[in-house]
Amino acid sequence: MDDVHVHEVAIVGAGFGGLGMAIRLKQDGTDDFVVIERGDDVGGTWWANSYPGCQCDIPSNLYSFSFARNPNWDRAYPMRDQILDYLRDCAERYGILPHTRLNCELLAATWIADAQHWELETSTGPLAARVLVAAPGLLSEPSSPSLPGFERFRGKAFHTARWDHSDDLTGKRVALLGSGATAVQVVPEIQPRLAKLHLFQRTPPWVIPHMDHAVTHAMRELYRRVALLQKLSRASIYALRETMVVGITRDRRWLKGQELNARLHLRRQVPDPELRRRLTPDYEIFCKRIILSSEWYPAIQAPNVALVSSGVKEVREHSVVDGDDVEREVDTLIFATGFKPAELPIAERIRGRDGSSLAEVWGGSPQAYLGTTVTGFPNLLLFYGPNLNLGHSSIVYMLESQIAYALDALRTMRLRGAAEFEVRPAVQAAYNAQLQERLADTVWNTGGCGSWYIDRNGRNSIQWPGFTFEYRRRTRRFDAESYRLAAPVRQPAAFAAPAA
Ligand SMILES: Cc1cc2nc3c(=O)[nH]c(=O)nc-3n(C[C@H](O)[C@H](O)[C@H](O)COP(=O)(O)OP(=O)(O)OC[C@H]3O[C@@H](n4cnc5c(N)ncnc54)[C@H](O)[C@@H]3O)c2cc1C
Repeated sequence: MDDVHVHEVAIVGAGFGGLGMAIRLKQDGTDDFVVIERGDDVGGTWWANSYPGCQCDIPSNLYSFSFARNPNWDRAYPMRDQILDYLRDCAERYGILPHTRLNCELLAATWIADAQHWELETSTGPLAARVLVAAPGLLSEPSSPSLPGFERFRGKAFHTARWDHSDDLTGKRVALLGSGATAVQVVPEIQPRLAKLHLFQRTPPWVIPHMDHAVTHAMRELYRRVALLQKLSRASIYALRETMVVGITRDRRWLKGQELNARLHLRRQVPDPELRRRLTPDYEIFCKRIILSSEWYPAIQAPNVALVSSGVKEVREHSVVDGDDVEREVDTLIFATGFKPAELPIAERIRGRDGSSLAEVWGGSPQAYLGTTVTGFPNLLLFYGPNLNLGHSSIVYMLESQIAYALDALRTMRLRGAAEFEVRPAVQAAYNAQLQERLADTVWNTGGCGSWYIDRNGRNSIQWPGFTFEYRRRTRRFDAESYRLAAPVRQPAAFAAPAA
């Protein structure tokens, strides 16, 4: 690796996190960085999820970069294609594409203590960087249950995050597993063209009416001319959503209004009391992500849909046998079964100061300081890392907070002539102890649902337990006193050889 140029920063992932970091880095005057992305386009989540009906569930006046306002959203909650176009446009407009290597997967990252930099092994060759920003996405590794007999299945089978567009499913018999956020978006889109849909529901979700609406041409024109208007819209969406934090983390009575909203929605859309019973969740609202849809209940009551609550007993060559021993003829099997956020493969690939991987250090329960830095892993920034997920607002807001923190870390390194930063173990431990204490009484931990927020050790390593403005405040400045900063062991010139 001696002849490999050492970049200032290497960024893994070209979703909102990786692209946002790259744009801000460039605006801050750093040009020596590389973005690597295993996919064949930028966009992350919005590139990978091309299933019919894919849409954000936070209005895009908020779910977008604060520094790249877009007056052209044609819906309050835009569809996947428009969000993907927005991200492609940002990558191009801010000059990130020349720094980006597509179809390039990070296979291993090793901290080289003597050289004070990261060596990266990628699918297209070696790279090196002083600072590694890992932005691989929390929801980027599809999770599918292992079903008895699945290997015998002769039809098509795919996960919603890897949608197979070679067949539009017209006239097909489909088994769809899952009834979460993705299933609720997919089913109303595909149900009308199917011969039969067997919908395997493990737990019914809480569903409230969708408030989506078209943004009129006149409104878009107004946003274009009066930027302040869109900023006000962003601010009011933000403020309204923050009020939910009180109910989620402090006083459940604040969630009762939304529960009533969901119950009335179910009553209005599902007349059959027995079906209503099967569709009523037995856990508290907000324990899992709340679902927005005005089309889910009508779609699943269509004559060609069978709601199956008994689970999958076995898969055969052309059928799925449910838990009540009913054999269901199936051409295509679709997994709308979510992701593996606490077991990201990249955690096995990043090795720190003592040679251990993140996965080994975490043992199934990811933790970091401010969800961003990890003891034993110098110059590593995780986006969006442990305990930074939200149930109520825009992840882009959290990512932008992390980006500000990361940039200040780089500035601090420059100002202080440091070559390394590593969070102090006591700081990380105290932060996580406090975090878990705060999470203990939240609806995610005690609301009676088995959600992906709780990892295999029974710990909530996914959710942020407070207001997002608290996180913004805590990440405004890089708190150097929480870190061990180390001076260069060699002169910078020794590792800043120009690119070959
Ligand atoms: C269907 C869906 C809908 C969502 N809707 C919302 C919403 O409405 N509001 C909201 O706030 N959040 C939503 N989210 C969460 C969403 O993931 C985040 O908002 C945001 O897009 C995360 O951006 P990211 O850059 O961190 O990760 P991603 O967008 O997942 O990007 C990560 C990128 O890293 C790449 N990568 C991973 N590993 C490697 C590797 N080893 N080498 C190279 N590249 C790698 C991946 O290919 C991917 O392109 C949704 C998620 C999903 C799946």
